Amino acid sequence: MSSKKQKIIKITTEGLKNNYIENYSDSLNWTPEIFDKMTEIEIKSKTDEELVFDIKGVDPTIVNTLRRIMIAEVPTMAIETVMINQNTSIIPDEVLAHRLGLIPILADANNFIEKKPDDEFNDKNSMKFILKVNCYKDKDGQLINENIFSKDLIFEPQGDQKKKYYNSETKRYSIGLVHDDILINKLTTGMEIDLECYCTKGIGRTHAKWSPVCTAYYKLINKINILKEINGNNAEELRQICPKGVYIINKKGKAEVGNVRECTSCRECIRAEKFKESIELGKIADHYEFHIESVGMYKPESIFFRAIEVLKEKINIWSKLLKEKANNKK
Ligand code: SF4
Repeated sequence: MSSKKQKIIKITTEGLKNNYIENYSDSLNWTPEIFDKMTEIEIKSKTDEELVFDIKGVDPTIVNTLRRIMIAEVPTMAIETVMINQNTSIIPDEVLAHRLGLIPILADANNFIEKKPDDEFNDKNSMKFILKVNCYKDKDGQLINENIFSKDLIFEPQGDQKKKYYNSETKRYSIGLVHDDILINKLTTGMEIDLECYCTKGIGRTHAKWSPVCTAYYKLINKINILKEINGNNAEELRQICPKGVYIINKKGKAEVGNVRECTSCRECIRAEKFKESIELGKIADHYEFHIESVGMYKPESIFFRAIEVLKEKINIWSKLLKEKANNKK
């Protein structure tokens, strides 16, 4: 169930009129039961790469916390250590290692433990890949291995990884690379790369290569009211003023609000002297359009649930700490 009374942030030519905290003074009465009653989620679109959903009736602190956790605290696997035996390509070792680090790795980081600096690489804390290529001309003069793609990284199972992840029917491992066609390097005759690399578990806060999302963002949904009727030539003028085509003209020649989600709050419509008294612009303070764009290692909905798990862990840590503090004071 969503909140009955919409909280509107007014947009004027000078900026936002009523601030957010003012709107949310009642959030001090927050309880899990109220949260449950007020919150509403509706999926707008879903693909393997992107999830778009509406979330209503939630304080911005919660929505923003989830966004930040998705970007920086959901663990994934990424190439962290590269041991280069030979690299005669034009890309220097450190740049090559950096490029490898950015290749998305397909694996559930929950199946791995974090590697401590002094730990050896093993099947519990890492995944190993080998890249061994050299460029040469075949008998027809064609360059072989001119372009080195991510698919040239060969996964080498450690310990019982073969037993755990190899599917004898598909003859494929369930862990490996998200994309096979990422260009890593270009070689010419006689150039050679021979290296091994290890993926370890990490989070985006340490380095962006561990972030599971290209981006995770939200915007508040706009609310536009046409207070005085706008029709005829004025309606056409208004339609043309809006760069996002938000205003449409109905059969009676009257201006109406079309797809309000297209509104970027540019305020062009209320800057026009003619319309500034006729249009009321605002944003619904607790109605967000949330976008999760996955890098590919996890489905976007899985990133959302993983972020909630991380948030729950954080809450448990804090509530334990606070209880300890309170007990010590007694
Ligand atoms: S604020 Fe800008 S985008 Fe939104 S309706 Fe007005 S002119 Fe269009």
